[in-house]
Amino acid sequence: MSFNSLKIIEPILKAIKEEGYTSPTPIQEQSIPIILQGTDLLGCAQTGTGKTAAFAIPILQLLSANTTYIKKRKIRSLIVTPTRELAIQIGESFKAYGRNTNLRCTVVYGGVNQNKQTSSLQGGVDILVATPGRLLDLMNQGFISLRDVEIFVLDEADRMLDMGFIHDVKRMIQVLPKKRQSLFFSATMAPAITKLAGTILFNPKKVSVNPESLTVDIIKQAVYFVDKGNKNALLADTLKNNDIKTALVFTRTKYGADKVAKVLNKNNVKAEAIHGDKSQNARQRALNNFKEQKTRVLVATDIAARGIDIDELEFVINYEVPNIAETYVHRIGRTGRAGAKGTAISFCDANEKEYLKEIETLISKKIPVVEGHPYPLMDNDPVKPPKQQQAKRYKGRPRPKSGVAEHNKAKKWNRKPKNTK
Ligand code: AMP
Repeated sequence: MSFNSLKIIEPILKAIKEEGYTSPTPIQEQSIPIILQGTDLLGCAQTGTGKTAAFAIPILQLLSANTTYIKKRKIRSLIVTPTRELAIQIGESFKAYGRNTNLRCTVVYGGVNQNKQTSSLQGGVDILVATPGRLLDLMNQGFISLRDVEIFVLDEADRMLDMGFIHDVKRMIQVLPKKRQSLFFSATMAPAITKLAGTILFNPKKVSVNPESLTVDIIKQAVYFVDKGNKNALLADTLKNNDIKTALVFTRTKYGADKVAKVLNKNNVKAEAIHGDKSQNARQRALNNFKEQKTRVLVATDIAARGIDIDELEFVINYEVPNIAETYVHRIGRTGRAGAKGTAISFCDANEKEYLKEIETLISKKIPVVEGHPYPLMDNDPVKPPKQQQAKRYKGRPRPKSGVAEHNKAKKWNRKPKNTK
């Protein structure tokens, strides 16, 4: 199928061509005709499938049909997405696909000063991409009115719930015009998601692309069994391979991300970490450095990496195997985008073997094991029983007898004194 046969107007077709897209992805093929008809849509698709263009292209087309409205510059389409990175990327997509239309798009998100965003809003916009917190904040301050919204998109609904935005979303829906077109996207369709979709959509058509099979088919995957304490050494060793131009490394915690980046830099591998404790500007700077290949390795936590879209990302390394199987699919979906080749490798210690099993069940595939690497797994001990863990934790320090107070007293001994250099 071609974009031509989807009845897309010339200015948008031209922009799509300039982006280098030759044919629509499955989610685009299915969604664009439905959205152009004005029907509500329930889309099951993850980032990396071409989902953004699947809604951005028809929205641009529908909005550009009404030229009198363009002159008024009221917000006629609202796209709400859970993370700032994703919001920025969606905004960039709207600008790219809409560059030959007369429509204006702006992005608002938290963590940065609002002045630039409010002055852009005051200039008038047709399309607004927003994260929930900043959106409600600017609405309360009177900078944003949702009165004229014709098309509403809730993107990454599953993440939105995971991140605790459910009440913000509900508040937003209350003020949206009842007569509107709504599009709802989620990578998974758990009961809570379906319930939320039911409160937003009216007679929706359903489209779905199977993210798991997409991932499995396109991305080369491998697992290294390694002791936890040897993961840094294995990572440094892996990165000796000059074929790895850039790599996105995932850690479970913010602290872990910083630590891994530090170790890599010590090993002369230029690395930066992004996570929720970094300012938005620092995160964006790190992301840009990575995109421009000034930094070879970006170390990220799952939340921070949400929505990272780098066209030529070939390597994803799971420094830790995620404890939620779907997260694995999300992570490795950063590579192999829209048909590009990609490799995902995972470092699995003894305690993570059970997570690996769950992942293999989800993707219905055994991930090939790399044998004969320099740091093979030696400690095959399963998860330590809690008693033993406690013994280690309170080694040489008072053990709690019982109760929270006792426990906290003991915990104090484990804390590092503040303000020590
Ligand atoms: P998304 O799922 O929206 O995050 O898109 C993933 C990536 O696919 C982005 O880098 C897009 O630029 C790219 N993309 C979207 N649609 C197409 C297409 N039809 N052909 C090639 N690449 C595409």
